[in-house]
Amino acid sequence: MTASAQAYADVVARIARAAQACGRDPASVALTAVSKEQPWEAVEPVLAAGQRVFGENRVQDAMARWKGRAGGLELRLIGPLQSNKASEAVAFFDVIETLDRQKLARALSEEMARQGRSPRIYVQVNTGEEPQKAGVAPAEADAFIAACRRDFGLTVEGLMCIPPLGEPPGPHFARLAKIAARNGLSELSMGMSGDFETAIAFGATRVRVGSAVFGERP
Ligand SMILES: *Cc1c(COP(=O)(O)O)cnc(C)c1O
Repeated sequence: MTASAQAYADVVARIARAAQACGRDPASVALTAVSKEQPWEAVEPVLAAGQRVFGENRVQDAMARWKGRAGGLELRLIGPLQSNKASEAVAFFDVIETLDRQKLARALSEEMARQGRSPRIYVQVNTGEEPQKAGVAPAEADAFIAACRRDFGLTVEGLMCIPPLGEPPGPHFARLAKIAARNGLSELSMGMSGDFETAIAFGATRVRVGSAVFGERP
């Protein structure tokens, strides 16, 4: 078994154990394997082992890597999206996890109507209110989700967050879960290589794991 196939099996097992440890069904937590910036030699064994859901943070890179590959994959955009790339993102991705502003909501909504294609949408929340980080401010999340639904006709499927580096992530996961609950959203994309077990304890329905599966990014 290659290193990444072994690491993949370990992460899948850790997800199941973390779910069981808090009385959750392991099937209620999905893995997004974050293949961004990884060499194909690391990605291929994980694909061969049956993983079908991959996360990428840049539209161009994702298209270069995945265009024309086998069907049956689910590709998720987990990095910031510029409005002028909305057309490509709508055409290419199955899920866009990083909606965080009105201009982008409008661009996505227009592209979906134009293309007749509807990637599923997550709103990114900047739970740590970090100025350099993408995501809607927690205090504005309810109004933004409402505007996405009412003004742009978007079906928001869930929320996504990236807690600040160097802070305990638990309170941020709890915050995201609370915002989701009061907005009737059941999907929570939270938890990365360093904290996915914590995220599962706080209700993550999908974890985004890169380096723990594929190794450190070059
Ligand atoms: C890179 C990235 C990940 C994966 O990070 P790892 O620490 O390698 O697991 C998850 N989510 C987002 C948004 C990322 O950009």
